[in-house]
Amino acid sequence: MQNNTTDRPTFVTHLECGKTKARYAADQLLGLSDVGSPLIVRYDVEGISKALSKEELRSRPADLWRYREFLPVRQTKNIVSLGEIMTPLIDLPSMQKGQGRLIVKDEGRLPTGSFKARGLCMAVSMAKELGVSKLAMPTNGNAGAAMAAYASRAGMETYIFCPDDTPEINVREIAAQGAKVWRVNGLINDCGKIVGGGKETLHWFDCSTLKEPYRIEGKKTMGLELAEQFNWQLPDVIFYPTGGGTGLIGMWKAFLELKEMGWIEGRLPRMVAVQATGCAPIVKAYDNGEQHAELWQDAHTVAAGIRVPAAIGDFLILNAVRESNGFATAVSDEAIMDARHEASIKDGMLMCPEGAATLAAYQQELKSGRISDDEDCILFNCATGLKYPLPAVDARIDLNRTIDYSTL
Ligand SMILES: *Cc1c(COP(=O)(O)O)cnc(C)c1O
Repeated sequence: MQNNTTDRPTFVTHLECGKTKARYAADQLLGLSDVGSPLIVRYDVEGISKALSKEELRSRPADLWRYREFLPVRQTKNIVSLGEIMTPLIDLPSMQKGQGRLIVKDEGRLPTGSFKARGLCMAVSMAKELGVSKLAMPTNGNAGAAMAAYASRAGMETYIFCPDDTPEINVREIAAQGAKVWRVNGLINDCGKIVGGGKETLHWFDCSTLKEPYRIEGKKTMGLELAEQFNWQLPDVIFYPTGGGTGLIGMWKAFLELKEMGWIEGRLPRMVAVQATGCAPIVKAYDNGEQHAELWQDAHTVAAGIRVPAAIGDFLILNAVRESNGFATAVSDEAIMDARHEASIKDGMLMCPEGAATLAAYQQELKSGRISDDEDCILFNCATGLKYPLPAVDARIDLNRTIDYSTL
């Protein structure tokens, strides 16, 4: 029987500083590079293309571990998995304008209900492989929930710090999955400082976005999956709700690796970083032609997952957006909630606010002319819509009275 827990050859050669390209040996526990930049995992790409074929891939189970040769975990026994399925592509026929297809990649189907599972199953598996037993992280909700779940499964201790107004469901979910969790009267970057500050005393490993090298590799599988699901002919535009940017950076990395292998050819998708007008540091940096983003003051948006005032991988996000000939754009909370409502009632697709932000951006950019209606577009619904507050319902039926059906 074919399964993805068979030992397979692995191809990591080294890690590389995202900024200076300095090399670091693989198979050791690392956070940031010496200059404080994210570390990028590098592979013997030629080795992968010799060991694996598209045909072989087709015969494997439809989950994230089918891409094992593209992933960093060396030993199968270290894989910590909760069933990371290949997520479906769902079209939005009522939202689509013109001939170009409008398709949602629905990441809400993953364990813990968000695509953070992709990053954290990899980070926790690698932490296990490298002998870590205690993890800490700042989170707006979903990353913490995913880390708590995978770490509990791996028998690790977790410490999680959330901004005060993190959605209640996320904070409770984190606690329910066995983590120690605190609300903090600040934003995610303030929570990040607490994690940095506690390292000496509590000896935890910092799993913050891009402060460890492997979450990108997990998120990279979104790009591998898209390529395979589109039969190695990628769509024209990808709208990605951008907080720390792990997914956008990871997908772009996947496309470059596939290109180097000769598995995909021609033009790559334009990567569009979507943010909220109440927190749009990447958009501002993009518009001003900057390499780095400034800290965004008074960040606020209903889309908590993209409320990230400062991203340590800002330059990597901006590079991917520019190299791909994409752009960065911001949408209002009102447009986000309208888009969410419209997709729910017209196409039966209940998106999370961050996912709805990509739909709002699609609508906005068709009007602006930065995309055209004959382009095939992908939206990322990064979490299940069920994790978020929904409008109240107060209609009741009183069984002590006669039901007047004409009023229903
Ligand atoms: C984390 C998160 C994002 C942002 O993803 P990044 O890859 O960190 O930019 C968007 N939406 C939701 C629901 C999230 O949990």
